Amino acid sequence: MFRNTLSSLAKSNFRFTKLNPTNSHKFNYTPTLRSYATYRRFNNQVSNTNLLKDPKSRRYVLAFLSISGLIYVSNLHEAPVTGRKRFIWTPVWLEEKIGNQSYRQLLNQYNQQGQILPASHPTTKKVASIFKRILDVSPVNADQLDWKIHVIVDPNAPPNAFVLPGGKVFVFSSILSICQNDDGLATVLSHEFAHQLARHTGENLSSSPIYGMIGLFLYTVTGSDLINRLIMNAIFTMPASRQMETEADYIGLMLMSKACFNPSESYKLWERMAQYEKQKSSGMLRAEFLSTHPSSDTRIENMKEWQSKARQAYDQSHCEQFGQFWGDNGVPGVRIGLF
Ligand SMILES: [Zn+2]
Repeated sequence: MFRNTLSSLAKSNFRFTKLNPTNSHKFNYTPTLRSYATYRRFNNQVSNTNLLKDPKSRRYVLAFLSISGLIYVSNLHEAPVTGRKRFIWTPVWLEEKIGNQSYRQLLNQYNQQGQILPASHPTTKKVASIFKRILDVSPVNADQLDWKIHVIVDPNAPPNAFVLPGGKVFVFSSILSICQNDDGLATVLSHEFAHQLARHTGENLSSSPIYGMIGLFLYTVTGSDLINRLIMNAIFTMPASRQMETEADYIGLMLMSKACFNPSESYKLWERMAQYEKQKSSGMLRAEFLSTHPSSDTRIENMKEWQSKARQAYDQSHCEQFGQFWGDNGVPGVRIGLF
């Protein structure tokens, strides 16, 4: 919807440029309301192309850039665990408000379809116990978070799970067979939770107006909405999205290891996911640079590369003691056996 608004804005701007009064005297056309407004606004003195040659306009542009730079620098925040600096100017309550709204809609939808397992169901309880272990080792105070687990039974839904801002978790039953065990499910849950911990929703919200402005500029240059969107996706939005996905993979792996889940199960989960994707796409390969997510192969490589750090986090938590309860050292914990 935001994109549509920008697109129509861009289009009006394009027409606006075409009716530039510096050229208008060459044509014998009847002035319309729009061309009159355009003429009056620029007073037939400064054209768009001459904007930067005018010292007064240059000062405005400079002031605008300085203020923008100041706003940008003062709103750079460090992501937890990775320490990556990212620009977030939107407040946390806005993310939570969006999360709560989505939560009510999803709850309503799946309740109507009777697809939500009851909270007392062993599968819901198992997912909740794994999520609680991840929460307990995170910087978030679990007691202050109104977190909830919902397992959606829909064999036709793609394997998926997500955590909304505010801590509401949705897990689709179709992902459970790919998870196979507690550690696999911990990989998925910790990844989803990491998105919220790193405030990726806020980061997306914060960058939307900037992308909008760049898009508007590109549209005036290219005059094509399609080319504009391709450039925006290839250069800005998709790499940013892949960066957030990789960050969530890393934070998630560190959290699950700290919570005494077997870190080596993380890449095994992604190997099974890659296998599933290959079957579904009948062997068609998906180009990573055209995607919002890193390819499964990239994720597997990353997970393997981060194993020594993950093992450190695992050891620092003295997980051998947990091993007596959750499974022996280095071997996946108690098998879920419910899916
Ligand atoms: Zn993700």
